[in-house]
Amino acid sequence: MTFEYAPAPESRSIVDIKAKYGHFIDGKFVTGKNHFATINPATEEVLSQLALGGASDVDKAVAAAQKAYTKTWSKLSGKERGKYLYRIARILQERAREFAVLETLDNGKPIRETRDIDIPLVAAHFFYHAGWADKLDYAGLGKSPQPHGVAGQIIPWNFPLLMLAWKVAPALATGNTVVLKPAETTSLTALLFAQVCQEAELPDGVVNIVTGDGSTGSAIVKHPGIHKIAFTGSTEVGKKIARAIAGTEKKATLELGGKGANVVFDDAPIDEAVEGIVNGIFFNQGHVCCAGSRLILQEGIADEFIEKLKVRMSKIRVGDPLDKNTDLGAINSREQLLKIQELAGVGDSEGAERWSPACNLSAKGFWFAPTIFTGVTQAHRIAREEIFGPVLSILTFRTPQEAIEKANNTPFGLSAGVWSEKGSRILWATQQLRAGVVWANTFNKFDPASPFGGYKESGWGREGGKHGLSAYLKEGK
Ligand code: NDP
Repeated sequence: MTFEYAPAPESRSIVDIKAKYGHFIDGKFVTGKNHFATINPATEEVLSQLALGGASDVDKAVAAAQKAYTKTWSKLSGKERGKYLYRIARILQERAREFAVLETLDNGKPIRETRDIDIPLVAAHFFYHAGWADKLDYAGLGKSPQPHGVAGQIIPWNFPLLMLAWKVAPALATGNTVVLKPAETTSLTALLFAQVCQEAELPDGVVNIVTGDGSTGSAIVKHPGIHKIAFTGSTEVGKKIARAIAGTEKKATLELGGKGANVVFDDAPIDEAVEGIVNGIFFNQGHVCCAGSRLILQEGIADEFIEKLKVRMSKIRVGDPLDKNTDLGAINSREQLLKIQELAGVGDSEGAERWSPACNLSAKGFWFAPTIFTGVTQAHRIAREEIFGPVLSILTFRTPQEAIEKANNTPFGLSAGVWSEKGSRILWATQQLRAGVVWANTFNKFDPASPFGGYKESGWGREGGKHGLSAYLKEGK
């Protein structure tokens, strides 16, 4: 007997979305000139109008950050900076439900994820970095390491507040001030975070938030008052940023795309591995740079594995992101949906076999059913390009060596997974895989203490942990 789930919608009454927002500069909300709409991708409802930041807004934000750096922030001891970070972390915890609902409305991801993963991790990042602020001299980062000054931070739409935390927390802990640009489609939680900065009485100008589009991001990158760039987003824009700062003194960390391989050996516990593969690709609608978007299965178990995967996928509940039972929410934008549809179409035309469970997708909003492609070869575009959606490409292998060759045959190198019951095989495989993060018998596990980043076209540098701190510091005198 199976039971149907009754709808369990989270109330949105806790959030107060204003009709229009400006930028957050020098501790105050300032009005913008031109505006654009931000929508709920699950319903296409217009949530608010956001300011489109131009060069003069970026100038003002950088000037405020420079002033705050010179007059206040660089003069505070690490212990004092740490107190602000603790205060921010606690306020984030107190307002967690409000942030979770707002993130779900603006991004389309399920409330179950914003409530249980995104927002708790955001607070954890601030707590973790608060602890580091007064210990930098003892972190093995050189004698009296010094901040760079003003950090320009540009973040994507897939984990809006979490990417803000990954950027802002280490910058502040190390004594830098910040000018941050959230993604065009998901700026609302960054603007709510600005209120948290006010509530925590963070000195004016330490955090500045300028909303806008790619041109706003580009103005931040090129601004002479910015000393360090931290970017997460596409490899294409990452390359543009690398070109823009070449020959300057600016430091950069670039966290870019991926095409993570999940390698399943024939001795793996199949039910656990199926669960891990589902988490690896369908978490956050597959809008994850380190998603396990390629499944590399040992031939002997391939048929059984795929059958079990299909049974499990049939249980994925797709729908209203505010419903507490929902597993897979909306695609973040029409543009992203078109990109996923296009690449899935390429998979069909190149001869791979597509399968999705029956799903009742709403006519309003942007939706894509969880999908797998079998019969994929390394030549297929769906095996090489980042789809950034709930689409899994399945390849097979016969020998362990072949598995590693296939897993590493990508311009990216962000994440990988190994599934096996044999410890020696796991140790061997994890050493062969060319990826910044390799998980064994699990996937998509994040912790502020663990450095994250990639090889090859997946980017430069690491975020999180001690390695992440070093990106915001230079050698002391
Ligand atoms: P982008 O790389 O375009 O966007 C990331 C951030 O950079 C956004 O804030 C964006 O602003 C900004 N930006 C855009 N152009 C420039 C520029 N020239 N200089 C400085 N900043 C800029 O990613 P998209 O959102 O367009 O997504 C495109 C593809 O990128 C996705 O389909 C996916 O494959 C990949 N992606 C990868 C991510 C990852 O974590 N690795 C995250 C997001 C996307 P705005 O939002 O206004 O465009």
